Amino acid sequence: MEHKILFKDLKLIHQLEKALAKQGYTQPTPIQLKSIPSLLLGKDLIGIAQTGTGKTAAFVLPILQRITTKHPRVIKTLVLAPTRELAAQIGESFSTYGEFLKFKHTVIFGGVKQGKQVRALNSGVDIVVATPGRLLDLMNQKKLTLNNVEFFVLDEADRMLDMGFIHDIKKIIERLPRKRQTLFFSATMSQEINKLAKKLLKNPVHVEVAPQATTVELIKQYIFFVDQPSKENLLLELLKQKHLNSVLIFTRTKHRANKLALFLNKNNISSDAIHGNKSQNARTKAITDFKNRRIKVLVATDIAARGIDIDNISHVINFELPNEPESYVHRIGRTARAGTEGTAFSFCAADERNYLRDIERLIKEKIEVMDHKFHSESAKTAVGAAAKPLPRKSFNRNSRFKRNSGSRNKNSSSKRNKPMVRFKYKSKKN
Ligand code: AMP
Repeated sequence: MEHKILFKDLKLIHQLEKALAKQGYTQPTPIQLKSIPSLLLGKDLIGIAQTGTGKTAAFVLPILQRITTKHPRVIKTLVLAPTRELAAQIGESFSTYGEFLKFKHTVIFGGVKQGKQVRALNSGVDIVVATPGRLLDLMNQKKLTLNNVEFFVLDEADRMLDMGFIHDIKKIIERLPRKRQTLFFSATMSQEINKLAKKLLKNPVHVEVAPQATTVELIKQYIFFVDQPSKENLLLELLKQKHLNSVLIFTRTKHRANKLALFLNKNNISSDAIHGNKSQNARTKAITDFKNRRIKVLVATDIAARGIDIDNISHVINFELPNEPESYVHRIGRTARAGTEGTAFSFCAADERNYLRDIERLIKEKIEVMDHKFHSESAKTAVGAAAKPLPRKSFNRNSRFKRNSGSRNKNSSSKRNKPMVRFKYKSKKN
């Protein structure tokens, strides 16, 4: 029989083993197995791994083991994360795995007043998890110094670049000591990421797990060709099914996320929206309500949803397809956590047809087409100008809707009060 490697084979200190046992974790995930031994030896590391692979523990555990006890309460570890949610989650991991150790940590992010964060820093911390903007701000105000940093982690580097943090990150890096251990994580690899990694890392160990295709393979994916005006009715019909019990819906814009959450609530489907314009408190509440199943649906934009750690999402629905094909992979990856299966539905209108083409090129497969009563053949067969999104400036909702509203849509609204037929899960190969 194959010998399974357990956490106790990884030579972790007993305080960490105890914390892991408390979580019920006995076996390291592949990224943990591949990273922890090298990190314990003090090596730099580049990890290509998505959220959901256990990558947080892969760096939190060795850092907690190796962080020195000299200079207590000065910042010895700095972790940079792209979003407040991810920073908060990493902070929670330090609490969980460090429960039986004496280190103090704090989380720093923008969008809230800085007073509490400055007080936490003044009281002395060993570990700081931060988003780049606020950290730089506090550094410029001389509220903290990074002279003693031994471990530097850049998490979700690809998203950091996407979000335009590169200049902030460069400025932060300039203030770090040269002698340090650097850990670099990214879900995807590109030339730009490679360049940044080369600049930051010294003889790094390369670790790659769950390449995108593998993650995608675990997810049942379906495309619904539908005209824009029918999308809401299609969504309602889908959400009536009981097995869609915890659904994460993606839109491209904050405005659309808000509108959709309102629409669903009006139709007695409990939902909330998260995006960058919402206060931190409102976002935390929405995520907690979703995790605790107080709401069935969470509507999110790409950036807001990135890195959110929610298990047991039954379905991801792309109400609007993302304009970057990589975002599709990140989005649907929310539903297949830690090796479980998931389902992703994507709505594609005519003007999103090119997005779908790019997605299928990236994932190297044709997504199965679902047959449904709002099916739009014109969306399916759109080419040329019809397959492209309308330019944003000339976006005129009314004219666009008129252009698209065929008899199918009129039928659907007149049918709204009639009992709904249960959805037929008939798929067509396209
Ligand atoms: P991450 O990729 O760091 O966001 O982790 C994804 C999820 O996996 C989190 O909920 C972790 O608590 C969980 N997790 C991390 N390591 C393990 C493990 N070795 N066994 C089981 N679950 C784990």
